[in-house]
Amino acid sequence: MKTINKVYINGKFVTPHGNERFDLINPTDNSLIAQVILADEIDARNAIEIAKKAFETFSKTTIAERKEYLQKLYEAAAKKEDELINIMVKEYGGTLQFCRMSTQNAINSFQRAIETLDQFNFERKVNESKVVFGPLGVVGIITPWNSSNSFIASKLSMAIAAGCTTVIKPSEMSALQTELFAQCVHEAKLPDGIVNIVTGLDQIVGNELTLNRDISKISFTGSTAVGKAIAKGAADTMKRVTLELGGKSPNILLDDADFEKAIPMAITAAFQNSGQACVVGSRLLVPEDRIDEVKQLIKINIRNNVKVGNPAEENTTIGPMISRKQYDRVQSYIKLGIEEGAELLVGGEGHPEGLDNGNFVKATVFTNVKRSMKIARQEIFGPVLSVLTYKDEKEAIAIANDTRYGLMAYVSSGDSDRAMKVARQIDAGRVIINGLKHDPLAPFGGFKESGVGREFGVYGLEEYLEPKTLIQ
Ligand code: NAD
Repeated sequence: MKTINKVYINGKFVTPHGNERFDLINPTDNSLIAQVILADEIDARNAIEIAKKAFETFSKTTIAERKEYLQKLYEAAAKKEDELINIMVKEYGGTLQFCRMSTQNAINSFQRAIETLDQFNFERKVNESKVVFGPLGVVGIITPWNSSNSFIASKLSMAIAAGCTTVIKPSEMSALQTELFAQCVHEAKLPDGIVNIVTGLDQIVGNELTLNRDISKISFTGSTAVGKAIAKGAADTMKRVTLELGGKSPNILLDDADFEKAIPMAITAAFQNSGQACVVGSRLLVPEDRIDEVKQLIKINIRNNVKVGNPAEENTTIGPMISRKQYDRVQSYIKLGIEEGAELLVGGEGHPEGLDNGNFVKATVFTNVKRSMKIARQEIFGPVLSVLTYKDEKEAIAIANDTRYGLMAYVSSGDSDRAMKVARQIDAGRVIINGLKHDPLAPFGGFKESGVGREFGVYGLEEYLEPKTLIQ
C-alpha cells in the first residue's frame, strides 16, 4: 500500500518530523487506498521559517518575474490535468464531471492571476499622495477537502501575484491530491521556499499557522465554526484574514420564470459537487400557488437527470460523501427533516439501492419546509434540497435573507430587470440570475457569517497587499 511520507519545504520533498499516520479511504467503497504521515508543529514552524526567508527576495521580484512563475505553474499543472482529475475522483469521490471542472479551475487560476496582474495598478495617486501596494508577507493557506486543489491554486496564484510566500495546509483527507499538486509545483521550478506544503491536522498545523507571529495573513476556506476560531486566534498577532465559509443559499423562482428550465437548474444548483459545496442552492423558494407544478417537475427531473453512483462514470451526477462521518451527518439531517414535519418528496434515509458499500446518499428533496426548521437553516453539505413557498416577491426576499449566511443566491425570472431588482435586495456576495454561470475574475466571498474578504481578480489580489501612502 502506498504511503505518502514527505512534506514539501524549501523546494524539496522532505521527511516530516511528525509521525502520525492517517488512513486515506476511497469513499466509493470504503477501502483503504493509502496512508499519509502527517506534518506536526515542528514541520509547520520549519516551513514558516523558510517562507519568511524566501519572502526577503521574493517580495522584491518584478511583476514580469511573477508572471513568469505563474506561467510555469500553469504549464506544469496543465501537463498533469488527467492525473489530477483521476486522483480527485478516487480520493474525494467527486463525479468525473465535477472533478474535470474543478481541476480546470485550479489550472486556470494561474492564468487568471496573470490577467489580473495585467490590469492591476500597484501605484496610484490619491489626492496629493502616492499610494504603493506591497506584498503582506508569509501567507498561511488552509483549505477544505471538497475541491482541494482548486482552492489551493486560487489562493496560491494570488499570493504569488502579490509577491507573498506561502505555507499551505490542505485537509489531511486530500493528501493524494495534494501530493500530485506538490509535484506540479516542484516541476514549475520556482525559487525555493515560495511554496511550502505541510499536510497535517487542524489543531496542530492549522493552529500553528493561525498563531505564529511570522504568518502575516491566513487565507482560509472551510466551515464557519472553524473560520471563527481562526479569526479569534489570528487577532492576537493582528493577522489579516480572508475567510470563505459556509452557506445556505436561496434560489428564488419568481412567478414569471420558465419553470421547465428553472427547475432542472435548481436541481443542478442544489446537487452540484454531490451537494458538498459552499455554493449549493439548498433552499428553493417557489410561489405558493405553483407548488404542485414544482413538485411534479422536481420528480420528473430527478428521475430523468440525476444519477447517484460510481463517480468515475461519465453520466453520474452525485458521487459518495467524502467520509463515513459526512454520510452519517447527511443521514442525520434527513432524519431530522422527517421529524421536523417536512414532507419527503424524493429520496430519504439510507443508501440508494445497490450502493451499500460506499458513502452514497439518496438525492433527497423536502417540500413543505418552514423557515424555522433546522433543515432550512443549517448547512447540510450533502444532496438534500429544502423547498419553501412564498406568497409574494417581498416575502420571497425576506425568506432568502432570513439566514446567518450570505455567500450565494440564485434568481430566475422571465424579466431580467425584475430579476436584477430582486438580486440587489439579497444579502449575498454573489447572485446568479437565470443560470449557473461562474465568473472567475469577479469578486467571490460572503456577507454575514459566510465570511470576510473577497477572492478572485483584482479584489482577490488586494487581499494579499498592504497599501502604503507616500506623502512628499
Ligand atoms: P473545516 O472547516 O472543518 O476544515 C477546513 C480546513 O481547516 C481543514 O484543512 C482543517 O484541517 C482546517 N482546520 C480545522 N480546524 C482548524 C483550526 N482550529 N485551526 C486551523 N485550521 C483548522 O471544513 P471542511 O469540513 O474541510 O469543509 C467543509 C466546509 O467548508 C463547509 O462548511 C463549507 O461550506 C465550507 N466551504 C466554504 C467555501 C467557500 O468558498 N466559502 C468553499 C468550500 C467549502
